[in-house]
Amino acid sequence: MRIWLLCFFSLSVSAQAQVDSAFFRRVFSEALENGHAYARLGELCKTIGARLSGSAQADKAVAWGKQMLTSYGFDSVFLQPVMVPRWERSKTEALWFSSKVFNTSMLNQNQQDFNCEAFEELPLKSSKIHKIPAVALGGSAATNGKIKGALVSIYSDKQLDSMGKLGMLKGKLVLLNRSFPESYINTFKAYGACVGQRVQGASKAAAYGATAVLVRSMSNRCDLHAHTGVMIYDEKQPKIPAMAVATAVANLLEKLANTDPELTITMELGCRTLPDAPSANVIAQTRGNKHPDKIIAFGGHFDSWDQGEGAHDDGAGCMHAFEALRLLKAIGYKPRHTLRCVWWMNEENGLRGANEYAAIADKNKEFHIAALESDRGGFTPRGFGIDSSFIPNAMKYKALLDAYGIGEIEKGGGGADVGPIRKVNPGAVLVGFIPDSQRYFDVHHSETDVFESVNKRELHLGAAAVAVMIAILDQELE
Ligand SMILES: [Zn+2]
Repeated sequence: MRIWLLCFFSLSVSAQAQVDSAFFRRVFSEALENGHAYARLGELCKTIGARLSGSAQADKAVAWGKQMLTSYGFDSVFLQPVMVPRWERSKTEALWFSSKVFNTSMLNQNQQDFNCEAFEELPLKSSKIHKIPAVALGGSAATNGKIKGALVSIYSDKQLDSMGKLGMLKGKLVLLNRSFPESYINTFKAYGACVGQRVQGASKAAAYGATAVLVRSMSNRCDLHAHTGVMIYDEKQPKIPAMAVATAVANLLEKLANTDPELTITMELGCRTLPDAPSANVIAQTRGNKHPDKIIAFGGHFDSWDQGEGAHDDGAGCMHAFEALRLLKAIGYKPRHTLRCVWWMNEENGLRGANEYAAIADKNKEFHIAALESDRGGFTPRGFGIDSSFIPNAMKYKALLDAYGIGEIEKGGGGADVGPIRKVNPGAVLVGFIPDSQRYFDVHHSETDVFESVNKRELHLGAAAVAVMIAILDQELE
């Protein structure tokens, strides 16, 4: 009799409080002992790789994603068609400099902040014209032949304006060389302080007569990997070509620009913009058992830049979302609301997938109560950025979140892909997943963003963190 009563009591308690310490333990154990995210990310990175919007590889990724998600037996898996912009890099992509003062010993002067061994990879030996690693920024115009000229190095918008007004940029190539503020603890804040020169820099320089721009890569690291990323032209200005140069190359070019009046840069780019192409968002969902008509969406973007394999950006975010849905299913969690894993297409250079997702939600009168985005890489999870309205709810779980190292709660949630949902469902709680930020910009948008740069345990901890936050949203929201 007594035993029976005890069992009855514990059963009713667990039914009422599904998201408790035992629940956290089950989610994290399943993720760490039997996680699927890492293996699926490996397939995506190694069988498909980079998947820029509108490319054949992005098409392959969509087909792979639909098939892979279907194999897990979620309640439904479907595609949302969307037209995306299509910019294409060319094999014709090169940057050279010629300088009378340059000698290889100049490279060693960077030793204090740079692993100089990597510099030896530069094909700089003997010849007077040196080819240097550089990549076109996404959206750049072509050069139509070669552009040749002197280089001016600029470190701030203010300097750009003052030199531009004096006519000092006319007919020149301009190096936009503002570096990440190293004292910022959060590297995304440092990125925010610099990324404007990549996005708008070409048009700002063009307004003062510059013929092309080189942009310092958005990275804390000093190395030889150029990081691409989107750039946007101001329609009122001439569309001048734009390339990213590695941070170590930017340091060298700045030095040469300031010491060699005869420094000459030559650029050749054959990239092009093609007509929009059909693509799709990829979605998998588990139906809610109490409010099936209310949706909690969570995901990342499925497109990537064409350098590397889009492993951290944002293959990891997509796998976090898929794995969170799988984890909750695997441990037998019964969601009250419909849980929807979304892989948005075209975050990098258009946001078409996210905008179409919101437009379809509006048209179909879908009701989102929350949306979570993971687009900061697959590094060790730290916590979440959360809309202030939901912070008191999240704080009820603070001790549990802290116990798993994911209790850093910041005010303000969301991200680029979940932002448009707010316009359709203004009450939706937006959440951003926050992993450790220190290494993200080592690889972001560069050839080093490959599967090997992702750590299995870190990725699986991130997926478990997303899963428990989804369950908290599911329990706390009506
Ligand atoms: Zn991203």
